[in-house]
Amino acid sequence: MNILIASEHVIDNYILGKRMKPKAYGQYELLLAVVDVLAGDVVRAVRKGRCPFCGRVFPTKRGIARHLKVTSWKVMRIRPYGSDWFWVREVYPKNPCAFKYAKLVEYLASVYMKLRNSIRRWGRVANLRLLAGGEEYDFRNFSEVAEFIRRNPSVLRVVADVA
Ligand SMILES: [Zn+2]
Repeated sequence: MNILIASEHVIDNYILGKRMKPKAYGQYELLLAVVDVLAGDVVRAVRKGRCPFCGRVFPTKRGIARHLKVTSWKVMRIRPYGSDWFWVREVYPKNPCAFKYAKLVEYLASVYMKLRNSIRRWGRVANLRLLAGGEEYDFRNFSEVAEFIRRNPSVLRVVADVA
C-alpha cells in the first residue's frame, strides 16, 4: 500500500479512537506524535464525542464517526487517455464537518511525509538526522524522533511550513 494512504488510514483510526493492533515500531510512534502535536485538540474533542468543527455532541463513538465520515458519491463518465470512455464513482465528504475532517487527515499525513523526507540515515550504524530550519538533530531511532517532536512542537511546525 502507498505510504501516504496507509498514513491517512492510521491517522483516521487513531483520531476516531478505533481499536488498533498495538504497533511498537518507531515510525508508527512518530506518526501519532505528529497527530497529537498538530491536532491534539481534535483528538480530545472526538474522544469526548464532540465534533471539533461544529461543536455538536454525539452520545456514541459510532455517531461521531458517522458525522465526520459521511460521504456521498457521484458517477461520472471520463475519458482519461483520449481513447475509451469509463464510468467512475467518485466518493466525497457530504457535510462541511466531514469535508474539514478529510482535509485535516490529508494535511496531517502530508506533514508526516515532509517530516519523513527531512530525516536522513547516516553513518555506519543506523542513525537518523533530522534537518529542520537549518538545524540538525541526531537520533538513534524513530521513537527518539517522536519523543523529540512531542517535546519540541515548534520544530515540527518548521518542517510543516516548508513547501
Ligand atoms: Zn460537526
